[in-house]
Amino acid sequence: MNTIPCPVCQTQISFDPILLIKGEAFTCQNCFARISLTQESMPLAKASIEKLNELKEKDKTLNP
Ligand SMILES: [Zn+2]
Repeated sequence: MNTIPCPVCQTQISFDPILLIKGEAFTCQNCFARISLTQESMPLAKASIEKLNELKEKDKTLNP
């Protein structure tokens, strides 16, 4: 699970990046703002998640 600060109240919202790029929306537990990706930001989010996974893979190789 990752967290993202709520754009409205800055509360940390936990979300699953895989679900997020699938178009799922997440709700802030504090102010109930809905967090979801727009169609335009999806490729960017996908790219950064892939990059994160890549880094994790590298970590495994460096620290078996
Ligand atoms: Zn909020």
